[in-house]
Amino acid sequence: MEIGKNLDSFRAALAGYPAQLVAISKTKPLDALQAAYDAGQRDFGENKVQEMTDKAETLPKDIRWHMVGHLQTNKVKYLAPYVHLIHSVDSLKLIKEINKQAAKHDRVIHILLQMHIAEEDTKFGLDQQELNSLIQEFLAGDFPHVRIVGLMGMATNTDNETQVRKEFAGLKTLFEQTKSQYAESLPDFTEISMGMSGDYQIAIEEGSTLVRVGSAIFGARNYG
Ligand SMILES: *Cc1c(COP(=O)(O)O)cnc(C)c1O
Repeated sequence: MEIGKNLDSFRAALAGYPAQLVAISKTKPLDALQAAYDAGQRDFGENKVQEMTDKAETLPKDIRWHMVGHLQTNKVKYLAPYVHLIHSVDSLKLIKEINKQAAKHDRVIHILLQMHIAEEDTKFGLDQQELNSLIQEFLAGDFPHVRIVGLMGMATNTDNETQVRKEFAGLKTLFEQTKSQYAESLPDFTEISMGMSGDYQIAIEEGSTLVRVGSAIFGARNYG
């Protein structure tokens, strides 16, 4: 298997940067994840709750599971017992449900707010104004079982490096502004999740702290 070698080259690429690697293992079989685990990888990301929960039940318990896909409120209860970080939160409704389910397990679940930074039209992600409103609603409410620890974004899927860099730099700027604006109320605001197989190099140069890399580690996916 090439997985161990691929992880080695990612560790080399990330050396000297503050970015951590989240191995995005969606659609990949258990033996591929186990190979990555055996090569020392502990952070794994999935985009479907059912698939992540099945894998979490089978694989070693010290894996840190990241939800990177769109999350429906009715699925939160399945990942609440074990999820490490939810990257894709973009509504107060979801925050309320995460708080409620986390409380049942006496946990504090860490979340990132997903920003819409790409040119492409998608339903998911917040703009700057929505980000501020959401944070203010969060702070005005009572969510002791949810901790906002940063932002996540996906750049436009394009070969235009200048554009991708501009989008990541924009996310970094927004992160810095938010961090200083809410320095007292969100003291754990430290993470910027950006960069995938095709653009992680640009992302780490622009200040990513979590790169979400799938196909460059596990090989191309047939779907997902
Ligand atoms: C699939 C996925 C990734 C990883 O994509 P690759 O191009 O395979 O590295 C990263 N982030 C999210 C949100 C994803 O859904």
